[in-house]
Amino acid sequence: MICDLSQILKDYGGTMPVNGVCKLSDTEFLGEDLSFPDGLFIDGKITNNTKSLHFTAKVTGKLQAHCARCRVTVYEDVEFDISEILVRDEDANSTDEDIIVFSGHEVDLGDIVIDNFFLNASGKYLCKEDCKGLCPKCGQDLNIKECDCSDDEIDPRWEALAQIIKNSESE
Ligand SMILES: [Zn+2]
Ligand SMILES: [Zn+2]
Repeated sequence: MICDLSQILKDYGGTMPVNGVCKLSDTEFLGEDLSFPDGLFIDGKITNNTKSLHFTAKVTGKLQAHCARCRVTVYEDVEFDISEILVRDEDANSTDEDIIVFSGHEVDLGDIVIDNFFLNASGKYLCKEDCKGLCPKCGQDLNIKECDCSDDEIDPRWEALAQIIKNSESE
């Protein structure tokens, strides 16, 4: 979502509304494939503070991810706020860390939106709070049905200990 700043750059003290759907390409976060099938909706504004531009917005939409336990597709509501200072490269001081530098008269709001999404994202999504996940042995989705793998197999190290206890009891 390229935003043309040529008008607001000339309008000291002015404000321009920034509204619309920001299409975002599929991305990856903490090893998880994420996508935004309908893009994210931006409702915000850019204000010219004479020395810089202040971009503030509320971002809402839907995120498509996969359940961290059973891998089914899940949709999560996305909602976060953006507040960023934009400075033209010729005016930027390299010691400023919390600014976004742009050149010319355009800025890609998609880059700003996705960076802010990552700042707010948990990276872990579940289809439901108590998702039982997949059986680690056979891969059965335990939400659909139980599998026949027993989960009471004794670890061989504990088996030796159990034997010792048994022997000492019989003495
Ligand atoms: Zn799940
Ligand atoms: Zn199983």
